[in-house]
Amino acid sequence: MTKKLNFPIPELLAPAGSLEKLKTAVLYGASAVYLGGQRYGLRAAADNFNREQMIMAVQFAHAHGAKVHVVLNAFLHDSDFVGLSEYAKDLRLIGVDSVIVSDLGVIQTVIAAGGPEVHLSTQASCLNASAAKLWKAMGVTRVVLGREASLEDAKAIKLASGLEVEMFVHGSMCMAFSGHCVISNYTQGRDSNRGGCAHSCRHEYRIGLSDSEQEKNSFFMSSKDLEGLRQLKGYVDAGVDSLKIEGRMKSVHYAGTVTRVYAEALAHYAEHGNFLSDRLEEWASELRKVHHRAYTEASLIKPADESSIHNGRDSEGVESAVAGPIVALTKDAMVIEVRKKFRLGEELELVPFRGKSQTFTANRLRTLSDNPLEETKPGSLVKIDLIPGAAEHVLVRSTGI
Ligand code: SF4
Repeated sequence: MTKKLNFPIPELLAPAGSLEKLKTAVLYGASAVYLGGQRYGLRAAADNFNREQMIMAVQFAHAHGAKVHVVLNAFLHDSDFVGLSEYAKDLRLIGVDSVIVSDLGVIQTVIAAGGPEVHLSTQASCLNASAAKLWKAMGVTRVVLGREASLEDAKAIKLASGLEVEMFVHGSMCMAFSGHCVISNYTQGRDSNRGGCAHSCRHEYRIGLSDSEQEKNSFFMSSKDLEGLRQLKGYVDAGVDSLKIEGRMKSVHYAGTVTRVYAEALAHYAEHGNFLSDRLEEWASELRKVHHRAYTEASLIKPADESSIHNGRDSEGVESAVAGPIVALTKDAMVIEVRKKFRLGEELELVPFRGKSQTFTANRLRTLSDNPLEETKPGSLVKIDLIPGAAEHVLVRSTGI
């Protein structure tokens, strides 16, 4: 998508936790996606891609002008290195554009094997130009800055190192120093730095305070989520090359909705040269429709502090849910794979890849064999009369929870 615009704007890098989410993100405007293979990534519980799926992912992304970055950012023990060289070579063969790496030994192995371009993972916590220059000398072509970096830091690091710089623009934050955390190891026996983070920092902790103080401080380690929408000009002015959306474990609704918002905002900038859009509130409202904690700008402008803590349970303000994605079109109907049940006569919203969403009434629900339905069931395929803007992978949202 970026190629069609009038002047360079940052890559919009979306999470692809599955092939379906990858296609959704690309069609909603991502210019790159990142995904995990079966080994070496930091999301052991995600639907990580096998070789065949990775080939399909690369083919689909490249056919739509998007790049594919593969995470290889676990911190490895010696025994994990068996097969790594062959894996790196194979990723190159498949056509993967880069690998995202944290571990020095992995960087060296990938480069020696002639694997894809190497990007330094946020897990390596690069926060200064001296470190960036060293990483560059090792063969790294891009640094994904630590989440503690500000936009000013990004600008200085890019200028001094000449490296491409990637920063998070949206999604969950890590309370630890970009993943250097062993709370899950101790509380759940799961190794955060080998893909096993159990989000232990999100849990409620009793810390020996009085009842009223405890009430206010039970979730004292749970960070709010990053929302960089209002700082997009700052990212562009700092020369940030890639804006990363966190969330490989999140839903297809999240992948489509969040990608769409940032893609539209960047396209607006490319066209008008500013972010002063009367659509800002509309975009912000879209970002409140996905599962999220309270939003923060974290360390983009000033260091994160106690106002960055989300002292509460997991999600807030979810205003809509996905009724289902469109998985096929017939000559008179769109076929929806139901994720959340809805009823005949219910108001739904079709979210096209570009342009305004449109509400419509589900006034004729049918099974695939055209038997009428009163109510849908999650997991089933149902037909609804075709409306303009319908296409495969377009999301249909329910306005009720
Ligand atoms: S438990 Fe929380 S702080 Fe620790 S790695 Fe996971 S997200 Fe980060």
